[in-house]
Amino acid sequence: MIGAVLDGEGVGVRCVEGTIEAIGVDVAAQPGDEVLDAGGAPLVPALVNGHGHAAMTLFRGYGGDLPLMRWLREKIWPVEARLEPEDVYWGTRLACAEMIRTGTARFWDMYWHPEATARAVADAGLRATIGGPLFDAGGNAEGTKQRVRGELDALAGRGAAIDAAIAPHSIYTVSEELLRWTAETAAERELPVQIHLAETADEVEECMARHGVRPAAYLDRLGLLGERTLLAHGVWLNRAELELIAERGATVVVNPVANMKLAVGGTFPYPAAREAGVALGLGTDGAGSNDSLDLFADLKAFALSQRHAAGDPTVIAAAEALRIATGAASPLLAGGHEPLTGGAPADFLLLRGDSPELGLGDLTSDLVYAASGSVVDTSVVAGRVLMRGGSVEDSAEIVSRAAERARRLGIA
Ligand SMILES: [Zn+2]
Repeated sequence: MIGAVLDGEGVGVRCVEGTIEAIGVDVAAQPGDEVLDAGGAPLVPALVNGHGHAAMTLFRGYGGDLPLMRWLREKIWPVEARLEPEDVYWGTRLACAEMIRTGTARFWDMYWHPEATARAVADAGLRATIGGPLFDAGGNAEGTKQRVRGELDALAGRGAAIDAAIAPHSIYTVSEELLRWTAETAAERELPVQIHLAETADEVEECMARHGVRPAAYLDRLGLLGERTLLAHGVWLNRAELELIAERGATVVVNPVANMKLAVGGTFPYPAAREAGVALGLGTDGAGSNDSLDLFADLKAFALSQRHAAGDPTVIAAAEALRIATGAASPLLAGGHEPLTGGAPADFLLLRGDSPELGLGDLTSDLVYAASGSVVDTSVVAGRVLMRGGSVEDSAEIVSRAAERARRLGIA
């Protein structure tokens, strides 16, 4: 790519096999290169959506005004019991189209039929870390283990863009025995673990009553808190838990919009997390509880909710909020690379140079507080151009196929 503008300078970016080989003012096309002329458009890193359930786009707008438990029991769980892989495939394709449209290159996913998710991600050209959820609230630990082993085998070897993860749903839906098995299996197979943690005050209370410790200490006791652990939500973590999480090197992914929509009654304690040195990411959560997958919208909500909760507009700088949304504030999410440097994944965006939201002022501040995903003109993931000119090519077909699947499930 030539003619992009990075930090006010014209730069070239040379990508080889999904990786940035070189980036800078002197980087030019070489004979035989496929060349994309950015035409002076601003270049920024792509975003990483650290937590979600992609295929839940099928549930968007379905029962969203009900309280959480009624919504799950009356709307979501009965339909999920009838889900087929093709439902998950088209729901995920719809999610991918929206994420490409709005600048996300990689996402972390926890949902049923993970092999269908992987197929959709590969067809869309995105990157994802995928795990089928573990539940054994009904006491079926053996059946769950067997299913998850099969899913992990099916996800292995799906190429550089797809990583397998093990995904116990939460500490209140997964037994202690199955959580220990999760820790052993993750260690054996060197897999990341993603789990919802400390989302509600009830969860913390129940954990104290049943296990005598708070959620992070409980996970640590089971061997589940380490550098490959991703904790979604973390709204009710206290200072001691944040210090423990930082010490173990685990990542917390904050989901401000889903937290507000589900009215969890608190705000992630970002100032304490930053002080403790916790690795952080940003996520949308599923489209059943957000309902948008536009991470730029969540980036604004994240920064605003933190400033508001702290009663202090200096609590988070725009650059730091944006850095968290790109995955760069977590070694687990960044995969060990600073974005837009040599050796990093070739995942980046060109912004619409003529968009009114970005015309004046500081680009970083505008991206956090003025922009939405609609400012993205071009999405490049693993060196492939997935969108040019602001529209995803096969969107119309994807929307219609996903709608068909939703009708089949009786939710549209
Ligand atoms: Zn979730």
